[in-house]
Amino acid sequence: MALIVQKYGGTSVADADRIRAVARRVAEARNAGNEVVVVVSAMGKSTDELVEMAGRVSPNPHPREMDMLLTAGERISMALLAMAIRDLGIQAMSLTGSQAGILTDTFHGQAKIRDVRAFRVRESLDEGNVVIVAGFQGVSPDTKEITTLGRGGSDATAVAMAAYLRADVCEIYTDVDGVFTADPRIVPGARKLDEVSFEEMLELSAAGARVLMLRSVEFGRRFNVPLHVRSSFHGGIGTWVKEKTMEQAVVSGVAHDTTEAKVTVYGVPDRPGVAASLFEPLAAQGVSVDMIVQNVSRDGLADISFTVPKQHAAAARTVAESIAKDVEAGGVDLDEHIAKISVVGAGMKTEPGVASTMFQTLSKAGINIQMISTSPIRVSCVVDADHLDEAVRVLHAAFEPPMKPSPEPTS
Ligand code: ADP
Ligand code: ASP
Ligand code: MG
Repeated sequence: MALIVQKYGGTSVADADRIRAVARRVAEARNAGNEVVVVVSAMGKSTDELVEMAGRVSPNPHPREMDMLLTAGERISMALLAMAIRDLGIQAMSLTGSQAGILTDTFHGQAKIRDVRAFRVRESLDEGNVVIVAGFQGVSPDTKEITTLGRGGSDATAVAMAAYLRADVCEIYTDVDGVFTADPRIVPGARKLDEVSFEEMLELSAAGARVLMLRSVEFGRRFNVPLHVRSSFHGGIGTWVKEKTMEQAVVSGVAHDTTEAKVTVYGVPDRPGVAASLFEPLAAQGVSVDMIVQNVSRDGLADISFTVPKQHAAAARTVAESIAKDVEAGGVDLDEHIAKISVVGAGMKTEPGVASTMFQTLSKAGINIQMISTSPIRVSCVVDADHLDEAVRVLHAAFEPPMKPSPEPTS
């Protein structure tokens, strides 16, 4: 008997028919003799709709109340799925994140899972139930408040639950067949990867490939959870995420991210301590900064650009404006119309030329690069958002991921 954690995303539980289809799939796994824990997302686009509704009621919704609102989405789908599974003659019980022992820090809207105490899930499994857990939510033991884990957070719930229960597999059922070489909605010719390493998946997720939330990949790696990303519409094999893969492609995928904005502080006096005076208060406000570029100073003045999540853009601008005044900088610009494009591949470590191919390819397409950042297995460029689709397509064509390492020279 195996223990399987299955996670179903919003599209997979979008309406009554789909919920019944998920129930049949869960029943199949249970009838085959497995213990089954199911983590569900909110139905369809209901999280977006709740966010929008909050915006119509209040221009700046209180974070605590926002979490109370958003967690309702997953509670609806967990209860409906439990009903549908019971109708197939299988015992099932739904639990909220808090009931399931998902303990988090106190950050509303972006809480991190600190601990899992899923005693109740274990007990319920022992009683013969399929246990359905509401994704994307937990409770802070410090404040006793309900929290949410950030967009896409049900993936994190599933992998954390799988780690706690030492599940044999954590299956992430979604609306595509697995992890592709690029978002298949932008590049129709993108190919499904049979396997991808945790190292590469971490970079792909961090670079915006939202098929797996970054935090879920971190858990998977830390607790060695076998992860299988697959389609909820058919039984085909998807993509396995694992520690070691057979091949280390030079480029295994192209990822994109439209969730960030760029802040530029220009005319900054070029003296020690100025960068610290800018980034310290940003960190203190919980604004996570991604890319940072400072240009060479001319006449003792430099420009500093950095990217932040769009939802932090207004706060980042306010902080930057106040610091700009203090240090007598020229001013602050905010550009929300940007996109980050990244190429990722473990084989890059030993294969030079990926960055230059990327820059040439973008240049040939007439796409201007605004910022660049790299890791040992990733190169990222920020471009104007209007060029997003084209940039992803030309880069996918240029690298044809998974691009294999070139053979070792023989002489
Ligand atoms: P779910 O609701 O099942 O969690 P998400 O919308 O969060 O689904 O994630 C799946 C989506 O991720 C796909 O529909 C696809 O558009 C997008 N995506 C982005 N990059 C990739 C990639 N490299 N491989 C597969 N899907 C990707
Ligand atoms: N419902 C949440 C969201 O839309 C969590 C998830 O789907 O994973 O972000
Ligand atoms: Mg998701």
